[in-house]
Amino acid sequence: MLNEPASPPSGEGQPSEVFPHSFVLPGRNARFRVPWTDECVEWPMSVGSHGYGQKTDRSMTPRVMPAHRWVWMKDRGPIPPGLALDHLCRNKLCVNPRHLEPVTYTENNRRALLARTEKRQRAKQSVCKRGHSLLDADNLIVRAGGKRQCRTCVNVNQRLSRIRRGPR
Ligand SMILES: [Zn+2]
Ligand SMILES: [Zn+2]
Repeated sequence: MLNEPASPPSGEGQPSEVFPHSFVLPGRNARFRVPWTDECVEWPMSVGSHGYGQKTDRSMTPRVMPAHRWVWMKDRGPIPPGLALDHLCRNKLCVNPRHLEPVTYTENNRRALLARTEKRQRAKQSVCKRGHSLLDADNLIVRAGGKRQCRTCVNVNQRLSRIRRGPR
């Protein structure tokens, strides 16, 4: 879904000097480095009941906030009031500012709805993205949580990653 890095809003959101440098994690003597990458960067610390990473920072209001908002503010400055940060990658744990886009809450809800609809449509798919049949019970794997996978593709991917790792 992510062919291009998230485009920053006009006038704002230029890569700052903070990103991709590391942040000190208070109380842990550890640094969390947000790498300059197009891949998802998953928050390594605590996760809230909402499924997003969670950050406590006494210098900010509110003190506890979703980690992706915190990283964004550290990197690109304040988020205008009334705007949500939409995860373009749909990965709640991701804090990569390039995967986040400030949008209105209305737009954010619209996108979330769209993503759910797409997910439902995928669940009805009769073939995988390479065209193998998912109606064939021997080829269909249903994971916990309802994720449907193509057995042929899973096997191919396993073989490829074994080849990539090389012989032991
Ligand atoms: Zn991401
Ligand atoms: Zn397949």
